Amino acid sequence: MSGLALNNVTKEFGTFTAVNNVDLTVPHGTFVCMLGPSGCGKTTLLRMIAGLDLPTGGAIRLDGDDITRVPTHKRNLGMVFQSLALFPHLTVGENIAYPLRIRSAPKEDQKKRVDELLSMIHLSGYADRPVSKLSGGQRQRVAIARALSISPKLFLLDEPLSALDAKLREAMQVELRQLQQKLGITTIVVTHDQREAMTMADTVVVMNRGEIRQAASPIEIYRRPADTFVADFIGSTNLLEAEADSAGRVTVLGQPVAGISLGPNISKATLSVRPEDVHLTAPGDGALSGTVTFVRDLGGTIETFVDVAGRQIIAVSTPRARPDVSVGQPVGVVLLPDVCVVLAK
Ligand code: ATP
Repeated sequence: MSGLALNNVTKEFGTFTAVNNVDLTVPHGTFVCMLGPSGCGKTTLLRMIAGLDLPTGGAIRLDGDDITRVPTHKRNLGMVFQSLALFPHLTVGENIAYPLRIRSAPKEDQKKRVDELLSMIHLSGYADRPVSKLSGGQRQRVAIARALSISPKLFLLDEPLSALDAKLREAMQVELRQLQQKLGITTIVVTHDQREAMTMADTVVVMNRGEIRQAASPIEIYRRPADTFVADFIGSTNLLEAEADSAGRVTVLGQPVAGISLGPNISKATLSVRPEDVHLTAPGDGALSGTVTFVRDLGGTIETFVDVAGRQIIAVSTPRARPDVSVGQPVGVVLLPDVCVVLAK
C-alpha cells in the first residue's frame, strides 16, 4: 500500500503506556490531524512516526517498507515543530535551501526549488531578507517551505500554528491545507484545536489515554461520534441518559419522548444531541418539559439553556429562528430524532 501504516504501535515509558496498540492507515496524499486532550499521546505517536522515539511494540510502514527502526534522516520526512527552529542569521532563501545544501544539491537546483517554494507560500521576492525581519505568519510559511524543500514522502507537523494569534492561525490553516492539496503530500498534524483539525483534515484521529477512539472524516466524527468521549470532545453536545422499556418506548431523563429508538435489545443508552438539533416549542406531547434558565446571545447564534429534570440542555439557534422565550419560562424541548446519536452506556 502506498502511504503510512501503523500496526499495533505501542510506547511504554517504564510502567506507563503513552501509546497503546495503535492501528492506523494513512493513504498516500491524505491529510490527517491527530487530536486529543493534553497527555493523550499525540506527540509521542508523531515522534515514533518521525523516528525520534522508538516504539516498544508494533511496526511502522511507509509505502510498504518497514521503517520502525530506520533513523530519522533516512525516512525522507519534512518536519515542522512548534518552535520553528529557523536559522536566525540566515536569509529566507538560505533557510529554505538548507536541507538541499546539506544534501549537496547543485546550486542551480537549490535556487529553482527556493523560487518555486517562495511562490507557493506567497513570499516571492523575499529570498534575500533575513528571517529575523519577518512576521510570525511569514516565519511559519518559511518553516513549512524549508521542510518541503526536499520533496519529502511524509510531512509531519506538531502544533505548527499554536504560537500564532487566532486570526492568523485560521488563515494559515486554510493556506496549509491548500498547499497540501496542491502538492498531494501525505501530511500528519498534531493539534489540540478541534476547529483546526476540522478545517484541514481528510481524517481526524481522536485519541485519549494513548488509544485511538475514532478515526474518520471531520463530518463523520461530528455527526456519528463513536462514543461519549468523542461526542463530548468534538464540538459541544448534550449527553442525555435514555431508557427503553420492553415495548421499545423511550424515556429521556425520565420523560417519554416520541420518535426516538435506542435499537434492538438496548434498554439503556446515552443520547448525544448537538445543540443545533434541539428545538424549543410550547410544552406538550412528545417534548421534554423544561424551564429556561439562561439565554446567551452571541450575535450570530443564540444559546438557550433549559433545565430538564435537574439537567441542563442547550439549544442553539440563529437570530432568524430565535426562540421567543425568556428566563423562567416553561418550554417543550424537542430532540430531533433522526440526528440523535445513540451511544452505548
Ligand atoms: P500535549 O498536547 O500536552 O503535548 P500529547 O498528547 O502530545 O500532549 P505526549 O507528549 O505524547 O502527549 O505524552 C503522552 C504521555 O506520555 C504523557 O503522560 C507524558 O507525560 C508521557 N511522556 C511523554 N514523553 C515521556 C518521556 N520521555 N518519559 C516519560 N513519560 C513521557
